[in-house]
Amino acid sequence: MFRLAVSPNCSSIAFLAVLAFGFASVPALCQSAASASSASAPDLRVFDSSLIDKTVDPCENFYRFSCNGWFKRNPLPADQAAYGRFTELYELNRLHLRQILEAAAAPSPARSANEQKIGDEYASCMDAPAVNKLGLAPLAPELDRITTLKSAANLPALLAHLHSIGVNAFFGMGSSQDFADSSAMISFYIAGGLGLPERDYYTRTDAKSVELRRQYVDHVRTIFTLAGELKAQAAKDAETVLAIETRLAKASLTMTEQRDPQNLNHPTDVAGFQKELTHFSLADYAAAAHAPAAGKMNDSEPKFYAEFNSLVADTPIAQIRTYLRWHLLHAYAGASLPESFDRENWNFYSHILNGAEKQQERWKRCTTRVDREMGEALGQVYVVKYFPAAEKQRTLEMTLAIEQAMDKDIDALGWMSAATRVKAKDKLHAVMNKIGYPDKWRDYSTLEIVRGDALGNQMRAHQFEHARDLAKIGKPVDKGEWQMTPPTVNAYYEPQMNNVNFPAGYLQPPFFSGKEDDAANYGDMGSTIGHELTHGFDDQGRQFDKDGNLRNWWTAEDERQFTDRADCMVKQYDAIEAVPGVHLNGKLTLGENLADLGGLWLAWLAWLDKADAAHLDMAAKTDGYTPDQRFWIAYAQQWCTQTRPEQLRTQAQGDPHAPDEYRTNTVLQDLPEFARSFSCKKTAAMVIPNPCRVW
Ligand SMILES: [Zn+2]
Repeated sequence: MFRLAVSPNCSSIAFLAVLAFGFASVPALCQSAASASSASAPDLRVFDSSLIDKTVDPCENFYRFSCNGWFKRNPLPADQAAYGRFTELYELNRLHLRQILEAAAAPSPARSANEQKIGDEYASCMDAPAVNKLGLAPLAPELDRITTLKSAANLPALLAHLHSIGVNAFFGMGSSQDFADSSAMISFYIAGGLGLPERDYYTRTDAKSVELRRQYVDHVRTIFTLAGELKAQAAKDAETVLAIETRLAKASLTMTEQRDPQNLNHPTDVAGFQKELTHFSLADYAAAAHAPAAGKMNDSEPKFYAEFNSLVADTPIAQIRTYLRWHLLHAYAGASLPESFDRENWNFYSHILNGAEKQQERWKRCTTRVDREMGEALGQVYVVKYFPAAEKQRTLEMTLAIEQAMDKDIDALGWMSAATRVKAKDKLHAVMNKIGYPDKWRDYSTLEIVRGDALGNQMRAHQFEHARDLAKIGKPVDKGEWQMTPPTVNAYYEPQMNNVNFPAGYLQPPFFSGKEDDAANYGDMGSTIGHELTHGFDDQGRQFDKDGNLRNWWTAEDERQFTDRADCMVKQYDAIEAVPGVHLNGKLTLGENLADLGGLWLAWLAWLDKADAAHLDMAAKTDGYTPDQRFWIAYAQQWCTQTRPEQLRTQAQGDPHAPDEYRTNTVLQDLPEFARSFSCKKTAAMVIPNPCRVW
């Protein structure tokens, strides 16, 4: 999808095309707890020979060969939908964050303003008895606002308020760079308003999907019942919610369609957009949102807004109130509401949709919440303790080496004309490298956090973020801003910024280590750096020029050459059946697959150069493997992941990333250099007759 939500519950709307590396979302569920005080760093290694299963032929199934040992050592914990090396590090980081938060939560006059905020927010979130005792009372003023909605004429102001407190009703509005001029921040309206993960959940007709919709209606009904509705009314209201969301879903672009920025490029202005919205006053909405009521904007999905307009006109106001009430309750049905809501929310979104058997402990969820709400206050303490300056320098050196490899690779591309090649290199040279954490930290001074007010804090954090986002409209673009927090175990590329971003939380074992050799580090973190760089040149990224403007810099013939090669990968991934009856979507995953393959290739080239310069003995074995074999094993070992079938289905249907097994084996099948390192026979499963290659 074009805009990738960094966190599943994050309501802030950054319309940047963030092409994340690993998770489509923060891993939903995590391993059973070790206490923060007893947390000791496990021995995580980038290349770990003890994880290898020598009973598996590396030429038959390299993923199993590299990871079986890890699978044996790491049975899937009950509170996990998937558990892999990313979650392994994510959990370790979360223990570190917990220590920081517990220290900050102890009331002391010596606390800094930021420590007071993160500490009190954590303590409020952790205080389950207080949350239970308050019940729905903290949400009562918001429920009352909805109850007093008497006509559609008052909907714009109410919706603006609900959006500011993180309620995903009907659509979203925020700031984004203009597609045509990346130096301008404009208002951006996106389709939204769904309670299921994405639009296809409302339209698929297979038995499993029909059952999931039934379970969703049951969930909505239960939440309404918990909020005090009588059973019969709640059942009726849940059907109303499904009917409204189905209308919105059917008018929305598919995730695959959203991947093409041209499909989201609908520049207009208030007057132009208002002509389409005959039953919804944009001026009222903008006034209530404290957003500019003039100037250029992008309404991204006109078909969606046409349906929204009809829906406002022809839906009884009582049904609109029902729909809004659901989304308000849904937005807060976590640790800020009594356990009955929290539990029911987990049951549908984590258990039914993703297969987890046990809810995460509260401290984990509260830690994640503070990271989401005030990640740069928390991250500022985190990087001082856990991110040595030397790591930043090492990552930068590796990034520059991989950029140099890409420069040479573009020169060597047989299918690209000289004219397009010059532009590609211009774009590469303009990439900005951001490593670890922001140069300038976010200022939270206007965010009020009150100890004991978990729901109020959550609401004010949403308002703070919404206001911060809208304040960017009409101002110069801040190229130093980050879309992920420093402790995040992930990385991303932004096409409109033309930058690559590697948060500190990711730059440590088992992905990167100053104590291990280049073969391990290039195979692992090097391939990630290459992955993010290649996003600038994937099916989506290649449509943006060096300045981040959506402007075609390709000749028609080069475009055809690119598409032909990319189609090879579309077919390759379409053919993979991830769970019985569900194939991967080659078009949806194309950008990530291109980045995986291109990224690993670039890391390989850069590492070969490095090995050459160091006169590395390529026949010398360490732990039983040659340097090139260690490179490939380190690549594969980053992907060791156990996944529940429910999660695998969810991922196969809607995640732009292929499941980890294919991010290993399918990518390596496309690189004959891998098979040569292990002297694989032509008939081996890891050797295919016609590998795909683009970059
Ligand atoms: Zn990616």
